[in-house]
Amino acid sequence: MKKVLVIYFQILALSLIGQNYLIKDVNIIPIYKNEVLRKQSILIEDGVISQIGNYKEVKKLASGNKHKVINAKGNYVMPGLADMHVHLAEDSLISFQLQNYIAAGVTNIRVMDSKANQLSVLAKKRDAKFPISPNVFFSKVIKRDESYSKNQADSLMFTVKQSGFSFIKLFGLSDENTFFNLMNSAKEHHVIVCGHYPIYRQFGKAVMISMDTVLKYGYKSIEHLGGYTNYPETEFENLVSQTKKWNVFNCPTIDWDIISYDLLYPDEYKNRLTYTILPQSKIDDWESEYEKAIEKAGGKEKVIESRDKYKSTYDKKIKVLEMLYESHCELLIGGDAGNTFQEEGYNVYEEMVNWSKIGIDNYTILKSATNNSAHFFEQDSEWGVIKKGAKGDIIILDKNPLEDIKNIATVKYTICAGVLYANSDLMKLKEYKN
Ligand SMILES: [Zn+2]
Repeated sequence: MKKVLVIYFQILALSLIGQNYLIKDVNIIPIYKNEVLRKQSILIEDGVISQIGNYKEVKKLASGNKHKVINAKGNYVMPGLADMHVHLAEDSLISFQLQNYIAAGVTNIRVMDSKANQLSVLAKKRDAKFPISPNVFFSKVIKRDESYSKNQADSLMFTVKQSGFSFIKLFGLSDENTFFNLMNSAKEHHVIVCGHYPIYRQFGKAVMISMDTVLKYGYKSIEHLGGYTNYPETEFENLVSQTKKWNVFNCPTIDWDIISYDLLYPDEYKNRLTYTILPQSKIDDWESEYEKAIEKAGGKEKVIESRDKYKSTYDKKIKVLEMLYESHCELLIGGDAGNTFQEEGYNVYEEMVNWSKIGIDNYTILKSATNNSAHFFEQDSEWGVIKKGAKGDIIILDKNPLEDIKNIATVKYTICAGVLYANSDLMKLKEYKN
């Protein structure tokens, strides 16, 4: 405990040196265009990027204002990452979970579900009860047993706004009318609705709202590539062009499929990026967890059998993702951590590597992990880009992730809400927790 306190103290001390930072001679990955701006200096004042230019100019403009100089020669700077598919843990684990995002360079998270009551977490966040935390977009989650008349939907929109939720996540749907009432009301009140593909049960059978309708009614993002694979492959082209036409985002979370269906069994999972960066104690925990899970599933053969059975569904999903990418549809990176081998925060790296493996270019991946998320919340000029006037929530990396997406794991520093964190310090904190 003592060690933890000491390190906490150092981190806080590091951050208290100045709210203003001058990042010197860094290579900028601006995200609003696919280019690297070499040897630039960036001034961040009160959490906002106030100047970008050569060091002498920026230094001159900064004079008079107290600031900390970060010598970043040869390093790369880009906007902090956004994890668009997060499940919050129970109350006792949340502050650790939030800190983990910062440790991984994630400065924005979209909460898709939560064990803890989101309203109480939101209140604590407002009262600054979490000293190390990304920016959080909270959601009102709608479950399958909730039905809404038009009036009820209208008052729900009012509550959503009043409570400080950023959007509605549809987890499950009770009936067809509820879908239409929610979507019509959300449109009138400018509330974002997104989530699982809308499917309800009728007479014991699963009924899909047609994709045409879902897209047309302004469902903002579809999670897990739901819906598409329920159609024959010959329909994919049409569905993808409809997705593009109605500007609907997709948050594929393919790492969920990969891990849940043991697609990397028996050995390949050991090549995951997080294996090389997380403390050995964590890896050991995962290994023993996995061993037990395999036993519980009925042994090696059973695991291989179910893995192979899922392969065709997975291939279909990948086909959809490739087509969405080729048609320039809006994509979002979501970690959807929760299983063995998936660590909060760091799992966005895995999702990024997954996308790279199927041929999505690195620039699109980085944009999907930053500015596309801002665009989702209609804040695309406010964050997720490195330019004057944007939020100064950034990460500084040793190596260029545009060259190799795995370089995303070389984050050295994160600045979030005007506070500077050395990522290796946060990692140490994590080690002590075990
Ligand atoms: Zn989820």
